[in-house]
Amino acid sequence: MSTGAAGQVPPSGRTQVAVLGGGLLGMTLALRLAERGFSVTLLDAAPAPGGLAGAQTIGGYSWDSFYHVLLLSDRNTRALIDELGLGSLVRWGRTRTGFFSDGAMHSMSNTVEFLRFPPLSLIDKLRLGGTIFLASRLRDARRLERELATDWLRRWSGPRVLERIWLPLLRSKLGENWRIASAAFIWAIIARMYAARRSGLKEEMFGYIEGGYSQVLAALTQRLQAAGVSLFHGVPASAIHDRGHGVELTMADGGTLAFDRLVATVPTPAFAALCPQLDAAERERLGAVVYQGVVCSTLLTRRALSPYYVTNITDPGIALTGVIEMTALVDRAHFGGHSLVYLPRYLAQDDPAWSRSDADFERDAIESLRRMHPHFEAADIVDFKVARARHVLAIPTLDYTDRAMPPLATSMPHVTLLNSAQIAQGTLNVNETLGVIEQRLPALLQRLQAAS
Ligand SMILES: Cc1cc2nc3c(=O)[nH]c(=O)nc-3n(C[C@H](O)[C@H](O)[C@H](O)COP(=O)(O)OP(=O)(O)OC[C@H]3O[C@@H](n4cnc5c(N)ncnc54)[C@H](O)[C@@H]3O)c2cc1C
Repeated sequence: MSTGAAGQVPPSGRTQVAVLGGGLLGMTLALRLAERGFSVTLLDAAPAPGGLAGAQTIGGYSWDSFYHVLLLSDRNTRALIDELGLGSLVRWGRTRTGFFSDGAMHSMSNTVEFLRFPPLSLIDKLRLGGTIFLASRLRDARRLERELATDWLRRWSGPRVLERIWLPLLRSKLGENWRIASAAFIWAIIARMYAARRSGLKEEMFGYIEGGYSQVLAALTQRLQAAGVSLFHGVPASAIHDRGHGVELTMADGGTLAFDRLVATVPTPAFAALCPQLDAAERERLGAVVYQGVVCSTLLTRRALSPYYVTNITDPGIALTGVIEMTALVDRAHFGGHSLVYLPRYLAQDDPAWSRSDADFERDAIESLRRMHPHFEAADIVDFKVARARHVLAIPTLDYTDRAMPPLATSMPHVTLLNSAQIAQGTLNVNETLGVIEQRLPALLQRLQAAS
């Protein structure tokens, strides 16, 4: 991509908007803006589209770098899939959940199994069930932002359930950041878990798209091209300046581009680093958003590990925080009869594990899986990949909405921020990410149209 001199606004008469960041949020937003008559350019640092929803090739098969499932209640995601004409590619299936606890695997996939779950006493189970029920009934989670997740859970579930169930689960989702998460986080997790469980025996139901999320990305790319959006990948930006009459975007190759307006959909720390003109108060607020990262190993294996889509690990002797067996949901025929397994490890920004090599993660994976599944052998592995993402989820910390959530508007009149850190009292998923667009589009359009 060649970049030109700053200040040259293309002479089309339509407002020229740059959308910086080509994940699902940036791509969908670019489409919505093009549909409303803006001249849109989408720019992304990565060589391929989709950000966290992008694909990798493993053992010759293409599937998501990070595992994704749909819920029946994912209204925004399903509407987008239908809009793109991909509704017929969605498959739904019942899945099971395992718990690896005290050196043994337990199924906890429905109410009966929950009642039989040996690591907890009957009183513990009643308190755990009561906590989940209470959270599922709470409609206003805003007040839960005032209390730490661990304090709230200790109060409702008791210290033993906190130790044995909630803390391992919090660690598996948040790494060391479990210490700073508010009770709103646990509420959002329970609400999503609950939504995945159908009535009756409360069995879990998930969906996926045949071919993975790359099908959505390909269809969105086509739609964007048809709507006249200019798409550029592999073009990292290094600075954003508001020049009074418009925006100057400096690219890592030193070139500059000029636009009337810019909407950034990049993670909050990346945005703060790109904008030297932000004032001290804005910088402080943006700096208050604490991000969680993930290192996610993917294995293609000759044999299935288990019947569980998710295995939660509450056994401190295992170096993994969870196992996601995608082929417990997706037909193994998609992978030549092999099993596709993800091993996510969620990390705080300062975790020393960021510097570990792919080989280190592979060693951990083999050792842990052999302890969990005695039939598993290293020779079963057909291919092994490691994907890393530093800025995945903005942790819902205490008073997150009032204290830390980044506002749409910035002190740079032509520059706006729209990203997943603006999800209120939720957890990160595509549905909530698309919800950010739905909720904020009217305010964004006003800002884009405002004369300056
Ligand atoms: C392990 C994991 C599991 C998940 N599981 C599910 C699931 O089961 N179901 C579900 O619905 N969701 C799931 N998600 C969440 C889902 O992937 C996200 O909600 C969604 O992809 C977020 O999209 P985004 O556009 O907001 O962010 P991103 O995808 O992070 O996009 C941001 C983009 O900004 C670009 N960028 C950053 N800096 C610059 C720069 N300087 N210049 C140019 N571009 C830049 C990046 O390259 C990136 O493409 C999961 C995510 C992870 C990581």
